[in-house]
Amino acid sequence: MIIDDQYYDVIIVGTGAGGGTLAQKLAPSGKKILLLERGDRMALDNQNVANVDVFKKERYHAPEQWYDQAGEPFSPQTNYAVGGNTKIYGAVLMRMRSRDFDAVPHQEGIAPEWPLKYGDLEPYYTAAEKLYQVHGDVGQDPTEPDRSGDYPFPAVDHEPLIQKFVDAIAQQGLHPTSLPLSLTRQTDDPTGDSEVFGVDAALKFDHVTLKTNARVVSLHTNPSGAEIKGVQAEVDGQAILFSGHIVVLACGAVNSAALMLNSANEKHPDGLANSSDQVGRNLMRHQMTVIVERGGTNNSGKFPRSVSVNDFYWGDNDFEYPMGHIENSGGLLQDVIFAESPPLLSVLAQVMPGSGLKQLAMRSVGWWAQTGVLPDANNRVRLQTGKLRYEFTPNNTEAHDRLVYRWIETLKALERDTNAKRSAVYPRGESPTQVVGYQSGTCRMGSDSATSVLDINCRTHDIDNLYVVDSSFFPSCASVGPALTVMANALRVGDRLLEHL
Ligand SMILES: Cc1cc2nc3c(=O)[nH]c(=O)nc-3n(C[C@H](O)[C@H](O)[C@H](O)COP(=O)(O)OP(=O)(O)OC[C@H]3O[C@@H](n4cnc5c(N)ncnc54)[C@H](O)[C@@H]3O)c2cc1C
Repeated sequence: MIIDDQYYDVIIVGTGAGGGTLAQKLAPSGKKILLLERGDRMALDNQNVANVDVFKKERYHAPEQWYDQAGEPFSPQTNYAVGGNTKIYGAVLMRMRSRDFDAVPHQEGIAPEWPLKYGDLEPYYTAAEKLYQVHGDVGQDPTEPDRSGDYPFPAVDHEPLIQKFVDAIAQQGLHPTSLPLSLTRQTDDPTGDSEVFGVDAALKFDHVTLKTNARVVSLHTNPSGAEIKGVQAEVDGQAILFSGHIVVLACGAVNSAALMLNSANEKHPDGLANSSDQVGRNLMRHQMTVIVERGGTNNSGKFPRSVSVNDFYWGDNDFEYPMGHIENSGGLLQDVIFAESPPLLSVLAQVMPGSGLKQLAMRSVGWWAQTGVLPDANNRVRLQTGKLRYEFTPNNTEAHDRLVYRWIETLKALERDTNAKRSAVYPRGESPTQVVGYQSGTCRMGSDSATSVLDINCRTHDIDNLYVVDSSFFPSCASVGPALTVMANALRVGDRLLEHL
């Protein structure tokens, strides 16, 4: 193994929402920073794909297999590249609602309180929205949390077809609001991500180094086990050992936990920072169902998601528990999760020629219903004979089913009230196991080291110089997407690291 002769102030492993954002935050400090990223730069023509090509199965799947709770192998839809999953995400950057940070009763149990409150994160949400050029309007959303300022840019216009839906939804007494989106305002690469706004911004500083094709395989501690002394990576197939003062993991919730478990040693026999037996546990993932509706008229199939409906976020007249969030899917020719999910399109994609599929996609409108789950210690990542086990059984399913049915009822009412041609069926499908992009919670944050892995600053309770800033730290899973909270938290942890350094 080659021993790298440099010593870094901070080594960040992974360059997605957490790692890329943290690098940008630390870079102006003059500290020597190393970014290790297992993927490469993603070619522009492989990003932002908007044609029937997205329906080609396994387009954005990692070239590896994980194993589900039944031991069945699957290829996860996760993107190993500079910018991580933000290179393929929907770029919807929503704040968690302020009550999401409290203990929230659900039908099947209580989502635990966060050691942070919304007010602690609010300044960082504001900073993250500025960094990622979020376009949005405060609007009428009844769940919108207090904000210290407006969005940095106004919301984009809805596609004309979608505007008609927005008007009709409002006529039902609901509160459709513009989805906040990260946009670059560049036509060749329209959505904002952690490569553009995080990594590339950090690399403008000389003392920041990025190594791509650098997969970290193990972390080594000093003899007492109190500090990380070496970060072992395979860089273009060559084993190299790096060292630094602080090591920050940002590999995504599944891979950070797997790396800590894989780095077990004499002082940490069950994996690093795992004295509480919590590393890998409480894996969470949104329940997501796509609902397809006939659009009436043709659309381009290539427009951003733009509508959010949160009227059922905290429940409904006959259901007092949180149900979740609704958004439109945007043009169906560009939604990469959608391409995996709806029975109608994904089955047809196997048999239909591209032109027929394109026509069908352009005549349809898609809606996402998203509901959080409760943390469960038995939902977990673990390693078994070198294989990554991803063991997840959804819970809180009645709340999600109610949201889906409530939304279908709403769509029927819209069609009736606007005299639109009525859809006989609303094909729908829940996102399958391989859709793992909304993962969170495998190294949860808490003040009690017996029940959590990270302290409030996302430092591991057990190892002084080891931090985790990806979506692993979530103690519970709200129904809005996790990306903005990961970014805001990375900025917050960045402040703590700068004080420490
Ligand atoms: C198709 C899709 C659509 C989505 N849409 C939205 C959305 O609209 N809104 C939203 O809020 N969320 C969305 N998400 C989720 C969002 O992308 C994630 O929540 C967010 O990217 C998580 O950030 P992270 O830092 O935890 O991990 P990631 O962004 O996944 O970054 C992890 C990084 O670590 C690297 N890495 C992994 N293992 C190693 C290793 N051993 N060594 C070195 N590097 C490693 C990876 O290559 C990657 O770059 C979507 C996800 C997907 C897949």
